Amino acid sequence: MNKPAATPHRCVVCGSGDADTIWSVARTPMHAVRPAGMADIASGFGNLDVAACSGCGHLFNLAFDTEAADELYGALVLTNEPVSPGMIAAVDETAALIMRHLKPSPAVLEVGGGGGALSLALARRSARVDLVEPSRALQPERFVGTGVTLHRAMFPITALAGRRFDAVVCRQVIEHVPDPAPFLTALRASLADDGTAYLEMPSADDILLRHSIVDFHYPHVHYYRRAEMELLLARAGFAVAEVFDIKQGHDMGFLLRAAEPLAREARASSYISPAAFAAALAKRRVRGAQRLAAIDGPIALYGANAYAQALLGLYQENTPFAAVFDDTAAYAGRCVYGPAGEITIEPPRAERFAGMAAIVVAAYLHDAEIARKIAAMGFHGPVYTLRAPGPDAPGLIVSLFDP
Ligand SMILES: [Zn+2]
Repeated sequence: MNKPAATPHRCVVCGSGDADTIWSVARTPMHAVRPAGMADIASGFGNLDVAACSGCGHLFNLAFDTEAADELYGALVLTNEPVSPGMIAAVDETAALIMRHLKPSPAVLEVGGGGGALSLALARRSARVDLVEPSRALQPERFVGTGVTLHRAMFPITALAGRRFDAVVCRQVIEHVPDPAPFLTALRASLADDGTAYLEMPSADDILLRHSIVDFHYPHVHYYRRAEMELLLARAGFAVAEVFDIKQGHDMGFLLRAAEPLAREARASSYISPAAFAAALAKRRVRGAQRLAAIDGPIALYGANAYAQALLGLYQENTPFAAVFDDTAAYAGRCVYGPAGEITIEPPRAERFAGMAAIVVAAYLHDAEIARKIAAMGFHGPVYTLRAPGPDAPGLIVSLFDP
């Protein structure tokens, strides 16, 4: 503790150059999913060295390799496609929420739309959408005749320079951006004076509350608390109109209007104790290892996502996970991987469940829905969730980290 940052990073919130490490993982997968049998099996790992800024408590990965960002976001495989009724309904709700604040037939810019599900939902509600997304896995044919114009590139792009939109939408992106200030300024420059912006991201307040260790994974550079994000938004010239708790507080959504940028001097500062937080996280890590070790027989993961990615980086060297199930049809022939090798992703099947001693639900934000599905498919062994036990209410499913 109290050691200076290993690399000369400046805190993006307060500018301090000092930080205390609170969480580290030596070899964590950079990608949640990748093609199976890649030639260079040893590549594709990074370090987690998540630190709390000494000046303001902001959490960020000191070991994030900014040079590797292009490889990371040019992504080999599209992830986070909505695959369950719950996920599809959530995309529709977000589209409806955004459209409620717009005039008829608005011009919308979506930055970092993944597979484009939200852009398509907005276009169905008669928005004209420009989607900027760098993933090379995205198929332009998907958008033909939909009202969505795809720009397969990293934002900002010259083709849209000077264009102002009625709405600017950016979900689950800002936590991946090493330097958020110029990015937010570019978003603000794309917004009409009477426009509305919607930004969504994971909440570090939730991680601090629950000590959720699987929420630390390589693609996230920054972990923002609400007050920190409000400050960055104000500096970029956004006024907060409304804030939404999403997925029971796991994520936060900001509805924003154009405003005059706030001077750089203002600071967010709220105390966290890095030593106490680090100790609580370490306890979770040990508890997860103990529970996995107590399972007598093959263990399957359900959900080939960022939380499975984090789990493999933490435990795969000691826990030989036997299978990974996922509902995403496009994951056929893809794998997850960790320090001990890769595991091919399979669609969930009752015959395969039958051979498992336990199933761990990695897609923990949808754990209740998935647990019902697993039970309906005839698996009656233990099912664990990666959801960290919260201070509010006990979960429906036993947490792998339950003390
Ligand atoms: Zn700071």
